[in-house]
Amino acid sequence: MHEQEGVIKFQLNFQPGAVFPAAQIREINAWRTLLHQLGMLGQHPKRYDNYGFGNLSQRSGPAEFIISGTQTGGPEQLRAADYALVTQVDIQQNQLWACGGTAPSSESMTHAAVYQVDPRIGVVVHAHCPAIWQQTAALQLPHTAADIPYGTVEMALAVQQLVRRQGEGPALFTMLGHEDGVVSYGHCFSEAVSLVSQYYAKALALGAQPNLR
Ligand SMILES: [Zn+2]
Repeated sequence: MHEQEGVIKFQLNFQPGAVFPAAQIREINAWRTLLHQLGMLGQHPKRYDNYGFGNLSQRSGPAEFIISGTQTGGPEQLRAADYALVTQVDIQQNQLWACGGTAPSSESMTHAAVYQVDPRIGVVVHAHCPAIWQQTAALQLPHTAADIPYGTVEMALAVQQLVRRQGEGPALFTMLGHEDGVVSYGHCFSEAVSLVSQYYAKALALGAQPNLR
């Protein structure tokens, strides 16, 4: 039995309310739709017991980022109300502050961990791609250990170690303790999404199955 997707494991201080102006989510939403069409994020009856999976974020200030909301995987396009703004994080205390129309993704702490390492990192994509994940060894991908589950302080610290080693990116790694979990990041979506696409193609060329979508 695999771990259930989407359970928020950090202490969330969420202020529901103000929704982003449409212009502010236009770019992130466009890239999200593309990832949805690649089966990298979404919701599917044959994947993860039909829980939403995958998410993406965009830095909006020195310590702030916009992220897709929890369990918003289904629709091909989201509304501004489906995004949250993470305003503050305390990784050691496992606490996160956010506001917006929807509570932030359960994987927000992993995104926060990446941003904290380098101010030049502008976007983080968390895809679910069995093809890439299963080819971690063959593709010689950096990865977090199989005994570190998603959404934990341990995961956040392991991610920071990896990001320190890889630098500002674009870079990609897998999370072996999180089924099909892949993280790609860089200065902009063009970099991070291109990278995940490149590795997807490499994995398919090695014989991996395409993502169900
Ligand atoms: Zn995930």
